Amino acid sequence: MGTIDYVRRPMPKQEHFERVRNFDEVALGYTAGLAREESSRCLRCKKPGCVDGCPVGIDIPGFVGLVADGDFAAGIRILKEKNALPAVCGRVCPQEEQCEKDCILGKKGDPLAIGRLERFLADWEAEQGPPPARIPPTPNGRRIAVVGSGPAGLTVAADLALLGYGVTVYEALHEAGGVLTYGIPEFRLPKGIVRREVRYVESLGVELRLDFIVGKTRTVERLADEFDAVFVGAGAGLPWFLGIEGENLNGVYSANEYLTRCNLMRGYRFPAWDTPLKRASRVAVFGGGNVAMDSARTALRLGADEAHIVYRRSREELPARAEEVENAEEEGVIFDFLTLPVRLIGDGWNWLTEIECRRMELGEPDDSGRRRPVEVPGSEFRLSMDASICAIGNSPNPLIPMTTPGLEVGTKGNLVADEATGRTSRDGVWAGGDVVTGAATVISAMGAGRRAARSIHETLSGGEGTEGL
Ligand code: FAD
Repeated sequence: MGTIDYVRRPMPKQEHFERVRNFDEVALGYTAGLAREESSRCLRCKKPGCVDGCPVGIDIPGFVGLVADGDFAAGIRILKEKNALPAVCGRVCPQEEQCEKDCILGKKGDPLAIGRLERFLADWEAEQGPPPARIPPTPNGRRIAVVGSGPAGLTVAADLALLGYGVTVYEALHEAGGVLTYGIPEFRLPKGIVRREVRYVESLGVELRLDFIVGKTRTVERLADEFDAVFVGAGAGLPWFLGIEGENLNGVYSANEYLTRCNLMRGYRFPAWDTPLKRASRVAVFGGGNVAMDSARTALRLGADEAHIVYRRSREELPARAEEVENAEEEGVIFDFLTLPVRLIGDGWNWLTEIECRRMELGEPDDSGRRRPVEVPGSEFRLSMDASICAIGNSPNPLIPMTTPGLEVGTKGNLVADEATGRTSRDGVWAGGDVVTGAATVISAMGAGRRAARSIHETLSGGEGTEGL
């Protein structure tokens, strides 16, 4: 064996001073040369920890080896055996906590850039033009209803369509993709890529019914009567607020509303698109996760002079991916750590003008293992702001449980489902993704979709042919 290469190839990205003025993708992706160099670092371990770290069990050494050999067509085929959304996962998965975490190279140097290689293959495939049409499987005569077209719903739909099921996906919004479409901004996940991956799922024979609110347009009960099985992947789209004075003022948003107006409603394309988003000059974002980073970076691109992350803990506790925090910092987002908003103050016309905050300090660790933030008495101060965006979390919308008798709901409004199978308390109804776990990740939603698809197939067919799932 030659010398081990511990240094990861960097991915080219737009310069921060340029990208902060546009919505184009920040990271530009590996060239074929960089991808081959990076993949050649793989040690081809006998027991690859990376595969265990992948919630959908992709044969990572298999596709990485093919990239190193320059056989990209075979590489993407291996990827797609386990993942219908590789261009999405290659961009937004927290690989550093999953497949890359257990890469042996990471013990002494940089772990293999598995996510970047996944992205490279998916983008390479897209450049080759539309993929060859797949031979549709023989229909098995059974029909499945899927509620929600996010990563969980799309994975169930693709897996079951490949096994010959007739699948219909019901989506409340006018575009498919869930958070991938309405939440994650264009500069991190271009919508053309999401559309391409949705089209791939449709190409497997899946029918998409948009503008269809299950629980209003038709209930889960009715779908359960009409179909052989129902999968609920309705996500966690109900935003939390701080519950402080002034949250009804104009200029006060939830991250959900702000990002939906910008992404799904194309606020960033005004005046080419006729649904604008009001430009604010000083924006405060409450929270420290990926959603908060996305909101602050969006605000800057929409023309804000200042975007602040107002976070009650310290930098070490920020839950956002390190790469996204770094991107936000480079772009000029200001971090106000150990700061708690306690009151929103408006002018005579009910527009937000100031935010009253209190300083915090860190005490003993709490249930989450992080040090608990404690208020410093008498430390109030004000930030002058004309917009605030609350990004402190979401829970599932109560519509489906309210309209589906017999569906057990947990304390946070989440549907209760068996972790291994996705079975709910209601016969014939499975669930998975954020609607069960609360706000989590794309790949965990896809993993839940995969397990539910396997369980649905085992239940309806007696378990034939689930090995590939
Ligand atoms: P969703 O993606 O929420 O999809 C649910 C779908 O169901 C939606 O389209 C919704 O409209 C539809 N629906 C809801 N109710 C109904 C109904 N009654 N009838 C019909 N349709 C319905 N994860 C990562 O891994 N990496 C990231 O970088 C990342 N960044 C994020 C950034 C933002 C701004 C947000 C909000 C989330 C981010 N996440 C990220 C989390 C990730 O996107 C979610 O965990 C994932 O999308 C959950 O998938 P899902 O299929 O369960 O639900």
